[in-house]
Amino acid sequence: MLRPKPFDHKTCFSLKEALHLLDDSAGGIKILAGGTDLLPNLKHRLYPETGAVLSLRNLPELRGVETQQNELIIGAGERLADLSSHPALVATLPALAATFGTIASPQIRNMATLGGNLCLDTRCRYINQTDFWRQALGGCLKSHGDQCHVVPGGKNCVAAFSGDAAIALIALEAEVELLSVQGQRRIPLVQLYRSNGAAHLTLHPNELLSRIFIPLISGRKLAFRKWSVRRSIDFPLVNLAVRMDSDAGGNVQKLVAVVGVLAAKPKVFPRLADLLESGTLDARGIETIADFLFRKCAPLPNVPYDPGYRKEMLRVQARRALHALLQEDLLSVRQD
Ligand SMILES: Cc1cc2nc3c(=O)[nH]c(=O)nc-3n(C[C@H](O)[C@H](O)[C@H](O)COP(=O)(O)OP(=O)(O)OC[C@H]3O[C@@H](n4cnc5c(N)ncnc54)[C@H](O)[C@@H]3O)c2cc1C
Ligand code: SF4
Repeated sequence: MLRPKPFDHKTCFSLKEALHLLDDSAGGIKILAGGTDLLPNLKHRLYPETGAVLSLRNLPELRGVETQQNELIIGAGERLADLSSHPALVATLPALAATFGTIASPQIRNMATLGGNLCLDTRCRYINQTDFWRQALGGCLKSHGDQCHVVPGGKNCVAAFSGDAAIALIALEAEVELLSVQGQRRIPLVQLYRSNGAAHLTLHPNELLSRIFIPLISGRKLAFRKWSVRRSIDFPLVNLAVRMDSDAGGNVQKLVAVVGVLAAKPKVFPRLADLLESGTLDARGIETIADFLFRKCAPLPNVPYDPGYRKEMLRVQARRALHALLQEDLLSVRQD
């Protein structure tokens, strides 16, 4: 059985107290939300500097779903299972609620929070192993070594971000609020990520992700698709979201794709509408865009399955997502 290094468990009853604890800890404390990513990683001894965890369980400030003006605001402590069937979310962003319902298994969704899913650590077949296993290989850039086993000679860790929620939320132009004792900052969600898989978040060690803001734009459509081997439990091996904004005449104004599991930072393709010769999304346009994404995306051998096969599956999922934009009313972003 894998055991973590002993650690302290801290509980706070106000956000202010939590922020002070984080600030005082100089990075030695990890935030514990649902624990479904943090605890396995502690057991794998990925964070040797961590002496304590700070539970978010008793912080009501991190809960809630509300609509204010033209945006939906979700507390980072909301659980994925609750969000997938939340009436306000199902009514305004049904495609997003459905996306949350595809993450991991029902048991994990009952524990996992949206904030935890957005701050999920990166994954690689050389890092999601025991400490003993990693040491036998001499470590790597993400675990006390100076080499990368995926890109020999590489100086940057390319471990993959494998979260699903961020892919759909970035496509929807979501923003996140980050809090610390110094104050608050609000940034586009895409800026939370950077391309170094060993330190893939731009979140400071004394900051906490508190809320997610999603613009509600009438007529906007979203489709999310992913491929994994055991659909009910596995991490995605390919995932993507496509978003389309059209005018009243059905002409596509903006078509965006966001692709995950390629590297530490989701890849955004913001100008796909330029590839549509007819100005509308038709069968030919779907093939053109699916082929374009196929050519531009290069899965690496750091997660299971052959990268060439995953690349083919990306084209298949892109085609399905684009078709869904045309067919499924469920995938519309509604704002009545
Ligand atoms: C078997 C299995 C299958 C899975 N399949 C999928 C899948 O298909 N799709 C997918 O997207 N995910 C998948 N996951 C990952 C799972 O969804 C995540 O573990 C979960 O969403 C993390 O949420 P949590 O609340 O448990 O976070 P935790 O494990 O508590 O935390 C995760 C990380 O985020 C940090 N953190 C948490 N909350 C905050 C906050 N508010 N501010 C700042 N930092 C914070 C923690 O310090 C930690 O580093 C799977 C996990 C398992 C074990
Ligand atoms: S991509 Fe390279 S450096 Fe990063 S975890 Fe994998 S083996 Fe280590």
